Amino acid sequence: MAAPYDLKDDSVVVIIGSGAGGGTLGNELAQKGIDVVILEAGARHEYEDFINDEWESFGQLAWVDKRTTSGDWRVAKDFPNLPAWIVKSVGGSTTHWAGASLRFQDHEFQALTHYGKVKGANLLDWPITLAELEPYYAKAEDKMGVTRTNGIEGLPGNNNFKVLKAGADKLGYKECNTGHMAINSAERDGRMSCQQTGFCFQGCKWGAKWSTLYTEIPKGEKTGKLEVRPNSMVQKIEHDKSGKVTGVLYVDKDGKQQLQKARVVAVAGNSIESPRLLLNSESSMFPDGLANSSGQVGRNYMRHTTGSVYAVFEKPVHMYRGTVMAGIIQDEARHDPSRGFVGGYEMETLALGLPFMAAFLDPGGWGRSFTSALDQYVNMAGMWIVGEDMPQADNRITLHKDEKDKYGLPIANVNFSDHANDIAMRDYAYQRGQELYKSVGAVRTFPTPPYPSTHNLGTNRMSEKAKDGVVNKNGQTHDIKNLFVSDGSQFTTGGAENPTLTIVSLAIRQADYIAKEMAAKTI
Ligand SMILES: Cc1cc2nc3c(=O)[nH]c(=O)nc-3n(C[C@H](O)[C@H](O)[C@H](O)COP(=O)(O)OP(=O)(O)OC[C@H]3O[C@@H](n4cnc5c(N)ncnc54)[C@H](O)[C@@H]3O)c2cc1C
Ligand code: SF4
Repeated sequence: MAAPYDLKDDSVVVIIGSGAGGGTLGNELAQKGIDVVILEAGARHEYEDFINDEWESFGQLAWVDKRTTSGDWRVAKDFPNLPAWIVKSVGGSTTHWAGASLRFQDHEFQALTHYGKVKGANLLDWPITLAELEPYYAKAEDKMGVTRTNGIEGLPGNNNFKVLKAGADKLGYKECNTGHMAINSAERDGRMSCQQTGFCFQGCKWGAKWSTLYTEIPKGEKTGKLEVRPNSMVQKIEHDKSGKVTGVLYVDKDGKQQLQKARVVAVAGNSIESPRLLLNSESSMFPDGLANSSGQVGRNYMRHTTGSVYAVFEKPVHMYRGTVMAGIIQDEARHDPSRGFVGGYEMETLALGLPFMAAFLDPGGWGRSFTSALDQYVNMAGMWIVGEDMPQADNRITLHKDEKDKYGLPIANVNFSDHANDIAMRDYAYQRGQELYKSVGAVRTFPTPPYPSTHNLGTNRMSEKAKDGVVNKNGQTHDIKNLFVSDGSQFTTGGAENPTLTIVSLAIRQADYIAKEMAAKTI
């Protein structure tokens, strides 16, 4: 068979979502000769279509369908209907992302073993180790062209990096460089090198930054074995009397409901939509939703302990020029409870454009202090803090009791409260970040609260035992053999590192497993 596929073709693997997990899995399976249909809720915008304006670009790419929030996190107050910054577009959040691509550290796969029981946290060891994932990390780094791997040069440092590095030296940090970035520092894989234009979150108009939109997906399509259907919102996964999944119901580009048959279904809608879809797929056989015999679907939502520190200097920095996140300090990523918390965090350069800065610096803020900070925008440097947050059973995605989307399906509510460990880590990191900038002459510093979550993790977590999670070490649901989860919702714990390299590595590994099981006819 070859693409396009018939709706009644029940030999295809259907993947829901075309981002880091789904787009990678689709290409990997297609390369192995397996027939794949990717259903993607968003439109297909090629990189020439990206818009050079922060809010307009957000409107073009982001998932802005209504969600609700609860819990004591500040995002629920500042952005009650925008808990997460996630993309709805072919390529998923790899269109908006910044490209920071780090491997997890060994101990982070065994958080429970290393940190011990932490009150209020639902810590668990991953059912896989770093050693098992290493060969797949290597493949992912090669595929994505990650700098400082495979002999690829690091990116040049912009002014924001130079300020970070000067402060890192003053504080005695040793592990500071321009990062492991999935951004070409020289022409590679038919894509050009980074042009240092900045504003990488608006999509990279040059294609220098890896995105499944213009790497994995066209490569898969070239095989003739991958069909991507944009504007196709999956509403429900169907199953037969034996409990095997048989296909998915979706609304197509013309607003018509369609049923696409499938041999295997892989859910990769990111950590809010994936559990929402499983919960919305309830049936008389699975009244609590699909793959939810453990009651864990939607639970343990993690978003990383984030926050930013901006600082104003006497002279211009122009932090917005050059690659947004090509700058990192890794010294604080270690697990060292003497700092007052378990786990660690990274410090990464981050520049927002002026419109986003106005929205995120101090949401709701006004008056002289706030406006004078914006006046000094050109003199600002900035960093992002990204650290391991604690999984908690009640930090979870649930279906809203009353509110429905335009198709009549309950929308997602995201409940999140910071764990004491998250707060201790953030406060410590704010302190260190401010010290760093003050050590090189900052005249004002701004610890900045977390904004809507870009790292969404853990709501269909991997576990050794079926009762503790939703999927096994291959992302296969414990309950249903031919139903997989292929995105960041599989994460058992979050680690300190930006998650995408791990999502891509897991997808490459999962493709091997699915191909093997299909050949053995066990799925
Ligand atoms: C501004 C920004 C900066 C970031 N920077 C970094 C970084 O530097 N490093 C890093 O590691 N990570 C970064 N991330 C996070 C990274 O983008 C995500 O971790 C990653 O893309 C998640 O992959 P995923 O497969 O889980 O989901 P996504 O890539 O979000 O893909 C999910 C896709 O599924 C689709 N979908 C959802 N539900 C349905 C449905 N029912 N039917 C059909 N389609 C559906 C969505 O439309 C979406 O396209 C950043 C994210 C943002 C927003
Ligand atoms: S700075 Fe580099 S990676 Fe970022 S958008 Fe410009 S060319 Fe792309």
